Amino acid sequence: MSLQSTEINSVRISFDKDKTKEYRTNYNNPCDCQDCRNYYKNIESNGALLEFLSDFGIDYKRTEEVFSWDLENNSNSLIHSEGYYGVFGKIEGDEFSIEKFGTKIIFAKGANVPSDRTGDYFWICVEADFPYILDEERELQKNCFRQSEKSGFVEKVKAIFIKK
Ligand SMILES: [Zn+2]
Repeated sequence: MSLQSTEINSVRISFDKDKTKEYRTNYNNPCDCQDCRNYYKNIESNGALLEFLSDFGIDYKRTEEVFSWDLENNSNSLIHSEGYYGVFGKIEGDEFSIEKFGTKIIFAKGANVPSDRTGDYFWICVEADFPYILDEERELQKNCFRQSEKSGFVEKVKAIFIKK
């Protein structure tokens, strides 16, 4: 446990880089679907963003969730992508976002993302409209709900509704 702190947008953020880096769970395994691989590849080609994330202990492939959808129904369409990374620590002020590295980076205290983290943590969400850059035929309109499938999140949600 070693807390570091930084200030972004006049908000103090304290975080545990090592704990964030070492955290491995079924919830943040890299996803194999085309949308997620395209997201990873776009992030991978953005060196400054990679460095920014890794300063928090984030491995860019260890998303807890990637929401993505095609902006248009054709093969040249950009893909809106939102990748969520949990970070152990605390945002010591209000939530905020910054525009940096050609993306929008959101610092959020909570997110609608399945996770098994405990204790103090917050979310860094990377949001952008990315081009399709994988070297393979593109599948259109195949949304990925990988965490839902993998973690049984859908079942949990259903269970909650049935209880009510
Ligand atoms: Zn996926």
